[in-house]
Amino acid sequence: MNKAVTNVETASPCLANFIDGRFVTVGGKSFENRNPATGELINLVSEADAVAVDDAVRAARRALKGPWGRMSEQERSAILRKVADGIMKRFDEFLKAEVLDTGKPASLASHIDIPRGAANFNIFADQVLTLSTETFRMATPDGAGALNYAIRVPRGVIGVVCPWNLPLLLMTWKVAPALACGNTVVVKPSEETPTTAALLGEVMNEAGVPPGVYNVVHGFGPNSAGEFLTRHPGVDGVTFTGETATGTAIMKAAADGVRPVSLELGGKNAAVVFADCNLDKAIEGTMRSVFANCGQVCLGTERVYVERPIFDVFVERLKATAAGLKMGDPFDKATTMGPLISQEHRKKVLSYYDKAKAEGATLVLGGGVPDLSGSYAKGSFVQPTIWTGLKETSPVIREEIFGPCCHIQPFDSEDEAVTLANDSPYGLATSIWTENLTRAHRVAAQIDVGITWVNSWFLRDLRTPFGGSKQSGIGREGGVHSMEFYTELRNVCIKL
Ligand code: NAD
Repeated sequence: MNKAVTNVETASPCLANFIDGRFVTVGGKSFENRNPATGELINLVSEADAVAVDDAVRAARRALKGPWGRMSEQERSAILRKVADGIMKRFDEFLKAEVLDTGKPASLASHIDIPRGAANFNIFADQVLTLSTETFRMATPDGAGALNYAIRVPRGVIGVVCPWNLPLLLMTWKVAPALACGNTVVVKPSEETPTTAALLGEVMNEAGVPPGVYNVVHGFGPNSAGEFLTRHPGVDGVTFTGETATGTAIMKAAADGVRPVSLELGGKNAAVVFADCNLDKAIEGTMRSVFANCGQVCLGTERVYVERPIFDVFVERLKATAAGLKMGDPFDKATTMGPLISQEHRKKVLSYYDKAKAEGATLVLGGGVPDLSGSYAKGSFVQPTIWTGLKETSPVIREEIFGPCCHIQPFDSEDEAVTLANDSPYGLATSIWTENLTRAHRVAAQIDVGITWVNSWFLRDLRTPFGGSKQSGIGREGGVHSMEFYTELRNVCIKL
């Protein structure tokens, strides 16, 4: 029998978990959710204990057998379109919640995070209607033959564990295909950014998603909701985006019960800028790839390799453009860079700023904390930072910093550029800047990453395979590749 959950409420000053279609605060424990731009308290968040996580998983298992499990793909697809519409109808609420939780400029969240959050539901509502499977006729000794055909079934209950850098976008990137395929989900949003996942619970109810199909449990990783969820035997698969070390822990947890994992992990991405590039485009693209979202994008660039003839001019132009970034009120249209997600993350990023200094880097720009006034003085802002002159063995060049910073290094040949770009335990993304198409194809084929952009960055067609090589992840999501993870193929063999 299901264990009772405590204190069922519809609205609460304490942000509630969303279990079986209802908002639920769990007695006892809560944690603070602070605005990283000002340090001010936004709300308290109810931390799900092991009993609440168990309630959520049980609700999700029941929902598999309920109306959701019996719906046609067309019916599910229509409901998911209503979810997309519901997000767009409440656009301003989602925007405000995302900006308060992350501190990112509203101008960024309003054209990336929220519309992409809605688009994820539409794209997978389409995708599920075009899924095909295979059939094979085979010969048999009696001459009558046999027919094989494959059917796709949902995997079951999916545990979805999310990071804080693009909270709604990355969460719906997993929830939408999982639901389209007929699974049910229990989501553990980041403890730093819990609000939009909870708000989506209201939209799910309004759109007619049956109770238990979408559940949200708040909390942390180890010995909290994240670990309770990924270790729960009632979870049939885990999809995770976050740090490589966390992915390793989750993969170990999923090994009990031999559950599949899809892991989208960290990166230390290179940009390779050839002397024959269009310099205006290369500067504009590198500005975005280094500084967008305050450098907190898994696909962002932290290593820039520039062919020697244009090295000095590239460094000067990137410096001049980055010096124009404006920090402060995220709701002010003039603000172009927000804070880091937390004071703790700021300590981490500043420790790399210190390391670069200690190792004798040439500081081209930044390197510290900006002087902001009023309430933003308490925010977790750091200066946009550019270095040159470090050895490739430096931790600043080897390790993911996840801040608004990059190191720029010259190179002299195409082979050297490829070697430098590939010299990393990570393999998520790269950007190549060249007007020579033959070179672009040749270099792209040699870089060991999941995604290579040529003369662009973050240009995403959601039907394409997305994921990382080496320690940047396992599996691919996007388009049909998401459907592969969120369904299981079964073969039926009929003797004719
Ligand atoms: P994180 O790994 O610290 O946390 C991610 C989530 O995992 C959080 O919800 C956290 O509570 C949970 N968690 C932590 N330990 C856990 C455990 N032992 N068991 C279960 N859950 C646990 O990552 P973050 O700091 O939130 O996000 C930043 C990282 O995410 C960066 O490394 C970045 O590169 C990566 N990232 C990757 C992609 C991608 O697509 N490859 C996209 C965005 C972010």
